[in-house]
Amino acid sequence: MREAHYLLSSEKIKAEAARLGFSACGMAKAGPVEQSHAVFYADWVACGCHADMSYMERNVEKRIDPTLLVEGCRTIVSVALNYYPATFIPKDQPQISWYAYGKDYHDVMRMKLHELYESIASIHPDIKISGRCFCDTAPILERYWAWQCGLGWLGRNKQLIIPHAGSAFFLGEILLSVEADNYDEPTKSNCGTCTKCIDSCPMQALSLERGLDARRCLSYLTIENRGGIPVEAAEKMYPCFYGCDRCQQVCPHMRHPLSTSEAAFTPSSDLLQMTSEDWQNLTEQTYQRLFKGSAIKRAKISGLRRNVEAMFEAEAEDMEYIS
Ligand code: SF4
Ligand code: SF4
Repeated sequence: MREAHYLLSSEKIKAEAARLGFSACGMAKAGPVEQSHAVFYADWVACGCHADMSYMERNVEKRIDPTLLVEGCRTIVSVALNYYPATFIPKDQPQISWYAYGKDYHDVMRMKLHELYESIASIHPDIKISGRCFCDTAPILERYWAWQCGLGWLGRNKQLIIPHAGSAFFLGEILLSVEADNYDEPTKSNCGTCTKCIDSCPMQALSLERGLDARRCLSYLTIENRGGIPVEAAEKMYPCFYGCDRCQQVCPHMRHPLSTSEAAFTPSSDLLQMTSEDWQNLTEQTYQRLFKGSAIKRAKISGLRRNVEAMFEAEAEDMEYIS
């Protein structure tokens, strides 16, 4: 029998998450993921849809059962932090993905998750709690758990969609050693018969059966990929040379997103003023100034130059063909 005194208060944890600026917070009982998701994941990797991201092949047991990842874990707390920009790069200039507009989200999330973890301990002074915080830093199916925690549903664009808010959110998790007094229900899908994201993908990287094929996704090809940009991808990139938000932008649930209030995600005026010419002549000095403390730093200047070059070359050929 569970003793109420030794249970985490889900209401208080959610209030703390809101106070810290998270847009959504929910809780699920820790355990293995549903069998159908485990099978889907195994098939997805077996088909090579994870491209060169070989880390996805490792730690599969932990990935499908977080209690193996953090021993003694009883509760999963999932949180979402909004990154939908308040200011955008002008439409007539080369674009980068929204999530990369500001400072590195890993740093911002890590700090906030630890604050929440400390708050959870302080609002439960009678309970001995241990736990770990994650944001893209462990083999955990974070969208699956956000869904299980009632934050939103898994859209056909493979994003977590939060009702009335859309999909421009970073996700984070805290795995805790104590049970909660109330767990959330998974959110019912509201994709209905819509297939807009699948139909709008310029690379046909999305499908109903297989989900996302990273090998064809512009986001993967321009961010994670360490090789060259395939010709077909280069032809489809313009105007975005880092990432690709198209399958999010077309989603009807992105019609009225609220802009982020997180100052760290505000783009600098330097970034907003970059022109096609500036990107094509990107110097080390400008790169350092634009992306100090940004997640883009991982792509390195060579990666950005590769993308810019591929995109403009394909665009120039396209213009030649038209004229
Ligand atoms: S990010 Fe772009 S390329 Fe990748 S699935 Fe979405 S629309 Fe397709
Ligand atoms: S575009 Fe349509 S199918 Fe795709 S995630 Fe949004 S609602 Fe679902």
